[in-house]
Amino acid sequence: MDRPRITIFDTTLRDGEQSPGCSMNVQEKLRLAQQLDRLCVDVIEAGFPIASDGDFEAVQSIAAALRRPIIAGLARACTGDVDRAWQALQGAVHPRIHIVLATSDIHLKYKLRITREKCLEQAREAVRHAKSLCADVEFSPEDATRTDVGFLCQVIEAMIAAGATTVNIPDTVGYSMPEEYGQLIRTLRERVAGIDKVTISTHCHNDLGLAVANSLAGVQQGARQVECAINGIGERAGNASLEEIVMAMRVRPDRYPYETAIASEQLFPSSQMLAEITRVPVQPNKAIIGRNAFAHEAGIHQDGMLKNPLTYEIMTPQSVGVPDSRLVLGKHSGRHALALRCEQLGHQFERRELDEIYRRFMVLADRIKKVQDSHLLELIQDVASGAVSSGSIGKDDGGGPSKKFPPAAATLHLPRAVSAAAGANANDSHPAQVSGSAGQASLSIPFTDHHSEQEDYLWGV
Ligand SMILES: [Zn+2]
Repeated sequence: MDRPRITIFDTTLRDGEQSPGCSMNVQEKLRLAQQLDRLCVDVIEAGFPIASDGDFEAVQSIAAALRRPIIAGLARACTGDVDRAWQALQGAVHPRIHIVLATSDIHLKYKLRITREKCLEQAREAVRHAKSLCADVEFSPEDATRTDVGFLCQVIEAMIAAGATTVNIPDTVGYSMPEEYGQLIRTLRERVAGIDKVTISTHCHNDLGLAVANSLAGVQQGARQVECAINGIGERAGNASLEEIVMAMRVRPDRYPYETAIASEQLFPSSQMLAEITRVPVQPNKAIIGRNAFAHEAGIHQDGMLKNPLTYEIMTPQSVGVPDSRLVLGKHSGRHALALRCEQLGHQFERRELDEIYRRFMVLADRIKKVQDSHLLELIQDVASGAVSSGSIGKDDGGGPSKKFPPAAATLHLPRAVSAAAGANANDSHPAQVSGSAGQASLSIPFTDHHSEQEDYLWGV
């Protein structure tokens, strides 16, 4: 029996990017979009073109660079926004205009200061206009879960008639409970004329920690698109976490018999790349991609794991792309192993870049034997920033241990001289390097303020 296919709509670059500290420049967005393509998401919401020139340029370059996924641009329900979004999407093979307008009384009264009638009319005009430009149009009634259900049905029905092909039901403020959200999707399917002709989408925020549960409840009641973000980033407490949605369906097909196209072994590299670009670390106990997600410390657990991994492991680290901790990088490692580990950490390199990284890697490996992920990330950063020194990582500058060098750790076997230097650091409060299988390392790259493009968005979904 064929399982229903769920469209994964990634909004890391739009809703995610709007969250504090997560803004990205055009190059960073393009790099992440290429990783989202490798992850095989169906739709990439690349930005909000009218919000800033930077956003416009990001949508434009992503639309031009990626041929497979649908590229969506966000627009408020007005001609200027729709035109700007369409302009940014010109190079896209599969463009989508995503229109948003709030429908709850509280938003209509206090934010928009318009009546329900005016709201309906404005949304209809915007969707019609978008449809005259682009075949693929999504409509989002912002704050849908706090909208009067009768009015919500009326709006959705009108938008389908006006040409919307996807209707998204945002729990904008993260207020819904799973049963309630599922019930809302079911009600729309029962009451809205033409709903069977369009895709129903979920967009849930995590203010009560229920974004993933709500999204899955929506899917069980007939939603066939899920909007989500890598690492669950997004406004306030964030969006539904892409990796959790995907793996819930993959680990429990008995309860969630749905398919996605996601290449799950790209989940960890995607998470790493996002954390590295935004400098926003992932909480250690984060499901699926946190550094402790596959770590076992308690003796009884370790004992069970050694006897049979199934005692405590419901999915393998490899299935989500967590590097195999048994694969130790050292001077006997080949270029292929190095390239593979770089990819697992979210970095793809051209042949020449890899040559340079390999050269520096060998210099480092000669000195410290075991090259940890943190060293590799620093080395990659040095090469990317064009640092001249070959292998400055971990080098004692004469005045003490290098600041970039991680403190002594159980898994780190250093030559005596370097150990002594690192030992001088042993009393500082830096957390010890994790020895768990996730092998994820905290970045100690100095923060540089390159995120000057943060715009003051007043709108969202
Ligand atoms: Zn949102």
